[in-house]
Amino acid sequence: MKTFDYARADSVADATRAGGRFIAGGTNLLDLMKLQVETPDKLVDISRLDLDTIEEREDGGLTIGALVPNSDLAADPRVIAKYEVLSRALLAGASGQLRNKATTGGNLLQRTRCYYFYDTAAGCNKRQPGSGCEAIGGFNRIHAILGTSDQCIATHPGDMPVAMRALDAVIVTQKADGDKRRVPIGDFYQLPGDTPHIENVLEAGELITHVELPAPTGGRHLYRKVRDRASYAFALFSVAAVVTVEDGVITEAALAFGGVAHMPWRNPAVEAALVGEAPSDDAFNAAADALLDGAKGFGTNDFKIPLARRTLIASLREVTQ
Ligand SMILES: Cc1cc2nc3c(=O)[nH]c(=O)nc-3n(C[C@H](O)[C@H](O)[C@H](O)COP(=O)(O)OP(=O)(O)OC[C@H]3O[C@@H](n4cnc5c(N)ncnc54)[C@H](O)[C@@H]3O)c2cc1C
Ligand code: SF4
Repeated sequence: MKTFDYARADSVADATRAGGRFIAGGTNLLDLMKLQVETPDKLVDISRLDLDTIEEREDGGLTIGALVPNSDLAADPRVIAKYEVLSRALLAGASGQLRNKATTGGNLLQRTRCYYFYDTAAGCNKRQPGSGCEAIGGFNRIHAILGTSDQCIATHPGDMPVAMRALDAVIVTQKADGDKRRVPIGDFYQLPGDTPHIENVLEAGELITHVELPAPTGGRHLYRKVRDRASYAFALFSVAAVVTVEDGVITEAALAFGGVAHMPWRNPAVEAALVGEAPSDDAFNAAADALLDGAKGFGTNDFKIPLARRTLIASLREVTQ
C-alpha cells in the first residue's frame, strides 16, 4: 500500500476543510487502497463525527446520519415498521460483520465490483480514463444491461441505495465553504457516458452528512435479490418495490432495480404500466417490457435480460397478493 497522511476530523467543518479523502467504515476504500486501485495522499477519518443517529422529523420522515452503521439502520424499529424495503435491502447486503462497519454514506459511495476495475493490469476507463474497457468483449457476467456506454458497462453494486431510490431519499451534503445542499437520490448518480470515472455529483471535499427519507407512503414492501449464492454476494439483479393495491387496482407503485445499471435504476414507465391496472400477468409483463426496453447484453451477461423479466414478474405477483 502506498504511504498516506492521516487526520481524524473532530467536526463536519474540519472534515470538509481537511483536503483529503474521507474514510468511514473503510470496508471498500481500504480494499481498493491495498490493491493500488485508489491511492489517496491523505485520509480524513470521519468515523468519530456526530453523525450516527436516526431522527424522526415533523413531516413523519426520517433523517439518517451518514455514519449510522448498516446493521443499526436495518434494525431500527421505525425503519422496519415504515420502510421495510430498506431494512430488507440492507440485510441482503454483505455479511453481519461488514454491516456493523459499513456506514450509510460509505454504502452510497462504494465503487463498482467490475473485475477489471480491481485489476490494475487491465484497461479500465473508470480507473484510468482513456485506457479502454476490458469488460466489453471480456467476461462481463455481472455487468450492466441498461444505461451503458461504449466507455463503461459497470454496475453500481449496492443494495441499500436501490431501496433508497424506490423511497425517493434525499442526500444532504456539506461543502468546504459550509454550503449545504439536498440532492434527490435520482439526481445523485451519473451514467457512465464519456466520463465513467465521474460517478456522482459530489464535489471535491463535499461530505455526505445525512440521508432524508420522505414520510412513509404505506403500501406493501419487497426487496428481492438474485445472486450467485444464498448470502454474501452482490446482486445480479434486485428489485425494491413499494406497491399499494386498493379495491383490486394498483394505486401506487415505486420500483427500483439493482445489478442492471451504473446506478440504482428507476424508470417511470415501469410504474406507469402498473398504476390503474388490476394485478395481472398482462400488467406485470407490460412493466417488464418497459423496464427492458433498450436493454442490451454484452455476451456473458445476456442472461440478465430474461432473469430481470422473470424476477420482476415474480416480485410483482408477491407484492400485490
Ligand atoms: C466481501 C464484501 C461483500 C460485500 N457485499 C455487499 C453486498 O452484497 N451489497 C452491498 O450493498 N454492499 C456489499 N459490500 C460493500 C459494503 O457494503 C461497502 O464496502 C460499505 O457499505 C462501504 O461503507 P464504508 O463505511 O465502509 O465506506 P468506506 O470504505 O469508508 O468508504 C467508501 C467510499 O465512500 C467515501 N465516503 C464514506 N463516507 C462518506 C461521507 N459521509 N461523505 C462523502 N464520502 C464518503 C469514501 O471516501 C470512499 O470513497 C460488500 C463488501 C465486501 C468487502
Ligand atoms: S466496465 Fe467500467 S469499470 Fe469495468 S473495465 Fe470497463 S470501464 Fe472499467
